[in-house]
Amino acid sequence: MEKEKFITEQHKKARSFYRILGPVLLFIGAICLIMASIDFFTLQGFEEPKFFWLFFLSLPIIFIGFVLTGFGFGGAIAKYQSREYAPVAKDTFNYLATETTSGVKEISKAIQEGANSTQSLICYKCNGENLIHAKFCSYCGEKLVQICPHCEEVNTADALYCNHCGKSL
Ligand SMILES: [Zn+2]
Ligand SMILES: [Zn+2]
Repeated sequence: MEKEKFITEQHKKARSFYRILGPVLLFIGAICLIMASIDFFTLQGFEEPKFFWLFFLSLPIIFIGFVLTGFGFGGAIAKYQSREYAPVAKDTFNYLATETTSGVKEISKAIQEGANSTQSLICYKCNGENLIHAKFCSYCGEKLVQICPHCEEVNTADALYCNHCGKSL
């Protein structure tokens, strides 16, 4: 991207000169081309085209005008394009960042769940240490879970109220 402070005074003058001269040359070239075309297509019989040389003159004028216009407005066009594309790049970056963040969250969630699985469930009857998802005590065989009759959620055997729906068990 072009930075204003890096553009010298001379460059600025040249640019504004190109901005005027470019379109002016394009305009002159277009007029020459139109005149040559009109002259060429309105020829009668074997009459020599008077302004045919204008056709050859107009093409380089249009070309130079086009190039100068490009010099004059090139910076502005580049700036416009960078403004147009910058938000897209930002969105792409945000999208990637969001995706990465959710990916990291998934991993940390999995790690946490793994850590939870090492947590133990204490039997309310014999105080034996069982695996968190154990349904029966490994030491006394007591039932460690009860299924809520209202929502079918798993609760500990000694629970009085469902941890999911709050209804009495
Ligand atoms: Zn037990
Ligand atoms: Zn329930």
